[in-house]
Amino acid sequence: MPRFLALLTWCATAFAAEPTRPNIVFIYSDDHAYQAISAYGDERKLIQTPNIDRIAREGMRFDRALVTNSICGPCRAVILTGKYSHRNGFYNNTNSVFNGAQTTFPKLLQAAGYQTAMVGKWHLNTDPTGFDFWQILQGQGIYYNPPMKTAGGIVKTSGYVTDITTDVSLGWLAKRDKSKPFLLMCQQKAPHREWSPNLPDLGWDKGRVYPEPETLFDDYANRAHAVGDQDMTLAKTISPLDMKLVHPPGITPEQAKVWDAYYGPINEAYQRTKPQGRDLVKWRYQRYMHDYLGCVKSVDDNVGRVLKYLEEEGLLANTIVVYSADQGFYLGEHGWFDKRWIFEESVRTPLLVRWPGVTPAGSVNKSLVANVDLAQTFLDMAGVPAPADMQGRSLRPLLAGQVPPDWRQEFYYHYYEYPEPHHVSPHYGIITDKHKLVHYYGVGHDAVDLFDTAKDPRELRSFAGQPEYAAIQADLEARLKRLRTELLVPDVDDPDATGERTHRERQAKAAKNAAKKKAEGAK
Ligand code: CA
Repeated sequence: MPRFLALLTWCATAFAAEPTRPNIVFIYSDDHAYQAISAYGDERKLIQTPNIDRIAREGMRFDRALVTNSICGPCRAVILTGKYSHRNGFYNNTNSVFNGAQTTFPKLLQAAGYQTAMVGKWHLNTDPTGFDFWQILQGQGIYYNPPMKTAGGIVKTSGYVTDITTDVSLGWLAKRDKSKPFLLMCQQKAPHREWSPNLPDLGWDKGRVYPEPETLFDDYANRAHAVGDQDMTLAKTISPLDMKLVHPPGITPEQAKVWDAYYGPINEAYQRTKPQGRDLVKWRYQRYMHDYLGCVKSVDDNVGRVLKYLEEEGLLANTIVVYSADQGFYLGEHGWFDKRWIFEESVRTPLLVRWPGVTPAGSVNKSLVANVDLAQTFLDMAGVPAPADMQGRSLRPLLAGQVPPDWRQEFYYHYYEYPEPHHVSPHYGIITDKHKLVHYYGVGHDAVDLFDTAKDPRELRSFAGQPEYAAIQADLEARLKRLRTELLVPDVDDPDATGERTHRERQAKAAKNAAKKKAEGAK
């Protein structure tokens, strides 16, 4: 090689190697409650999650990580865009469609030279954009042998969804261009409803009896009417599929034999004893915990597989691993499963970050942080500037152990999906380290609740309108108003406030297209 070419090659290599940008692995599960991660030390001690705990032990655990709108699709849109639902246009799982033309953090990382991949649950009703590779579940996805979608069409799979999502993720990592940094979004379907465990894990907890939450039989007194007027209880709402009284979708006859061998005798005993009333709720709670936590076990096992792969490939030192869930979840608290509410178990989500060389091992952060911060955080990790219209703030200083003095002291929350499927009133509110003020505005639900979360952490009593809370309530109202202005939230009566206008426009466009097609066919 001529000397000048050799010099050029050397320069190019030296330049490419400096600075070393970190890889990012984002493991994002669905409906994984912080109560079901042992690093969070839940009082019921529901499960041990050694692999997820390792991320906390070697990195940082966030104890006040909140979400802006506690439901699957909307949270995913917030992660990608760094914007609230009213700014990214994805409000609910019922009729929202993600506009993939908008700016997202994976697109910006891709433009900056990152290889990007998205595997597993997507649930945004349009194909992913901004990824060099994607393989996603269709809609919610199913647990056994789930069909998946790629840029090339539908692919069949066989096996258990959590294993498959990890297999595809690691397969992509093995094939990647090793000269570039990467972003891998590994998005597990589990432990989403109907909570079907991996077949080899059936019976994993050996029939353990789980402690019940203190609020399993909440009567919804002392709060707005909206809190009791929902459809998400173990008592009323849970289905035969959730309770494993019928076969789950996608299961093969061979798999069904294994499934029947486990659930058959349990279901026969249930049919014989036919528990009623409180006994039925107690039975359902035990069934639910067994299955939900069985799904979590597999998520944890598969987090272990990812960490092992990174370790064996020598990637662990230069790869940031983030574990989170799209939102929190009720594990029987208030008599509920599901999410949606501004209340603690659903508004709060697990967030654990391992960033060697930046994040002190075993550290804990108690600041108010949120899913809307992650897009800017990922961009900051990669040294890519964030667009000015993103609405969060990079967690990088917090991850380095420095909380900026002007870090947020209050957080805005807004839930929209109504009335189906769980009849949870649309509501918005403000959360501080001591209080929550909530405005409900569903049909017949107009009301305000004020919770004193320092005094009443289980949120069982509203102090709204009480004289001793008048000054606090006035202060919270003023701060809530300011937040809504800063975040450009439309008035709730405005059709743009709920995505209704875009939904109607889309329906009108679809009807017009269908009529045009029909007219063309008639020619
Ligand atoms: Ca979810």
